[in-house]
Amino acid sequence: MATVNISRDGTVTRPMSSGLEVCVNCGYKRGFHVTINTGTGKPMIILVCPDCGTKYDLDWPVNI
Ligand SMILES: [Zn+2]
Repeated sequence: MATVNISRDGTVTRPMSSGLEVCVNCGYKRGFHVTINTGTGKPMIILVCPDCGTKYDLDWPVNI
């Protein structure tokens, strides 16, 4: 299993190349909610597990 890093705000960082189909925290398998984090300056897509709320920061910038 790939290394998972969890920051102070609970965001989990995981390399995109490792794939992300299942929540590593609770095992939920049916996909993720999407939100956008603008707190770091550049808007970034964050995936959120709909079951346990774990956040996944995929280093995935977006223009809004
Ligand atoms: Zn979960």
